[in-house]
Amino acid sequence: MIRFLVEYKYKFIIILVSIIISVFLVWIFGHKKDDDFKKYRNEAILDYGNNYYLKVEYPKFNNKKLNQKISNMVNNEIDNFKESTKRLSVATEYDYELNIQYTITKTDRLYSIHFVVYKFLGGAHYERKDLIYYYDFIDNKEVSWDSLFIDKNISLNELSSLTSTILKREYREYIYLDKYIFEEGIKPIKNNFKYIMFSEDYVDIIFPPYQVGPWSSGEILVKLGYGDINNILIDKYKGEDDPERNNPITSYKRKTRDIEELRGKKLLAITFDDGPAPSTTLKLLDGLRERDAKVTFFVLGNRVRQFPEIIKKAYDEGHTIGSHTYSHKNLKNLNDNELKIEITRANDEIEKAIGKSPTILRPPYGEYNKHVIDISGMPFILWNIDPQDWKYKDTERVYDHIINSAKDGNIILLHDIYDTSVEAALMAIDTLIEQGYAIVSLEELEKLGKIDLKNNQAYFRIK
Ligand code: ZN
Repeated sequence: MIRFLVEYKYKFIIILVSIIISVFLVWIFGHKKDDDFKKYRNEAILDYGNNYYLKVEYPKFNNKKLNQKISNMVNNEIDNFKESTKRLSVATEYDYELNIQYTITKTDRLYSIHFVVYKFLGGAHYERKDLIYYYDFIDNKEVSWDSLFIDKNISLNELSSLTSTILKREYREYIYLDKYIFEEGIKPIKNNFKYIMFSEDYVDIIFPPYQVGPWSSGEILVKLGYGDINNILIDKYKGEDDPERNNPITSYKRKTRDIEELRGKKLLAITFDDGPAPSTTLKLLDGLRERDAKVTFFVLGNRVRQFPEIIKKAYDEGHTIGSHTYSHKNLKNLNDNELKIEITRANDEIEKAIGKSPTILRPPYGEYNKHVIDISGMPFILWNIDPQDWKYKDTERVYDHIINSAKDGNIILLHDIYDTSVEAALMAIDTLIEQGYAIVSLEELEKLGKIDLKNNQAYFRIK
């Protein structure tokens, strides 16, 4: 009996140890796969009041100090904005707006995090504020601009002369519009070259609107190779040029469905806005593939710029990619030039990622008027079912809303930047398929002839 117990005990320990080792291995390899994305996650806040819209996104890293710094900045902006809208709370023809967006680039040890804070409180145009943070994830600390360069003055002189040559060549028309702005904007002072984004194979210098050209020229990016700037960078931040960096993606192996399978079925279009976001969008794509469901992604240009490979994957798997503009501003608050920039920059980023410019647009917040739609020259796709997933962030609630409002021809609005929305969508798709629905993309609907998209028109459901 005792011998039996001892043997039993050993077996138990051996089994237990193997389980622990396997769990550990799965954990290691599971993490390795999308290691890059695990180093930060996206926080999103969407909110509106009587007279404002608020759309804020910021990253969270594995570094408490940096997170605290960023969230303090974000909270201050939100508080100030809300305070201002209280003072402005008289009836207004405008919707005030606070929009905080960021882009991140990465090298083998450094994240460059560029924030743009847009505030619209009436007036001729937005107020814009730029901020930049550098996070060395190998040393796990925030690093200052100064600590990236060997010598501040030498570096600024070099940056000024490099960018001025490129600007004179590529942005001639803007510079001649206002030579004074240009001369001031490229002077070798730190304020002019604060926003430098380091990528694996190149570096982008960001000039916010009004720095080197008039406001109407928008943000201007100047791309430099490491070959040009390695001499001013300290050793650990030097990089290598990618000789093929400007080659567009050329190979496509897109999988689409035979639409004849869909005829006679009840059709439902599920649409996802505001992405892509690595952790949630990739999970959604896996779930959609398993269920043979096709959807539509209305993506933001500034996020496609960060994650082109996710959008390419979505496109290759047969989903429709539409534009949600470049940076999610209320299009009604923009002048014609700003409006065109929002639309064409998004189209350019999408085209770089999937090899094709999008043909449909969803205006941020669903806000548009005749003028906006006329200038855009694209069909607008709105929705008729809104589970307000961004507000409740509640899987059950969003699932119930989708199931209870499912009807042949409806267009459902969700956001693929929330875990709860992705879970709810996948659960709902299982139920809906059992109920005889096909989950279809906008392209499939067009092909099926259920919807005939015309430029300068808005669609709320599928006829
Ligand atoms: Zn949106």
